Amino acid sequence: MGFHLANIAGRAALVLGAEFFDLEEVSDGEFGPDLMAALMKPDEMASLLLRLGGKTPGGVIADVDLGPPVPSPQKVFGVGLNYEMHVQEGGMETPSTPLVFTKFPSCLVGPNADVEIRSDFCDYEGELVVVIGTGGRDIPKAAAWEHVLGLMVGQDISDRMVQYSANPPHFDLGKSFDTFGPIGPTLVSVDEVINRDDLRIVTTVNGEIRQDSSTAEMIFDVPTLISYLSRITTLTTGDIIFTGTPDGIGAAQGKFLSDGDIITTTIDGVGTITNRCVRVSDFQVVN
Ligand code: ZN
Repeated sequence: MGFHLANIAGRAALVLGAEFFDLEEVSDGEFGPDLMAALMKPDEMASLLLRLGGKTPGGVIADVDLGPPVPSPQKVFGVGLNYEMHVQEGGMETPSTPLVFTKFPSCLVGPNADVEIRSDFCDYEGELVVVIGTGGRDIPKAAAWEHVLGLMVGQDISDRMVQYSANPPHFDLGKSFDTFGPIGPTLVSVDEVINRDDLRIVTTVNGEIRQDSSTAEMIFDVPTLISYLSRITTLTTGDIIFTGTPDGIGAAQGKFLSDGDIITTTIDGVGTITNRCVRVSDFQVVN
């Protein structure tokens, strides 16, 4: 038995069907409102869900604005070129080790937040996002899934102009503009996800399918990424990994994001996030 954890107005909430329950209110003081603290007690959240009978829900999930389920992780990793068809569409070489970059935690927003774009070269990247539960270092591949608290859907929004304005390209900044990391809709505990290694992932823009793949197509799978990263840096509860995007990105088709575009990403068993693009300014690269 697992749980679906949501961020409702900055407060941790458990989701059950269409309804949510404020974690502090239903736990009689066992939990506070803090989401990052809740991540430390997954077993307690799961058992609390079994004792919700008679408790009054806080409301219906469809009626509220959701924040990022993991609002302030210590680390946010991204993985580039982790699907072979995506490597090919970019005319790149298949990496022999994971191509890792960072997204700054300040880019994280909720599953239905507006994405603020600042150039004509912004792009979508639908991705499976992994949340670390029990931290550690030198985690062996065989034990890696035991360190995963749960999964989310994510958009690794990327400004290609900024990404490729430096030579060699730098990924971190072009993918870290404020609002460039929508995640959610909830954090689904990994035991709730069937076929965790083979999840269909689909991204549409204004209803047109742009990406349609499976996480089974990853070059470096989730255990490999966790093992690799944990041999370099100690992983901590709440750290998140954007695991890479399949083929079909806008840059490969000359279809960049515009003001008003609606990006929708669905991962089977994990959920759907929907984000509207809003053009807020014209960014100039300073030389
Ligand atoms: Zn990405």
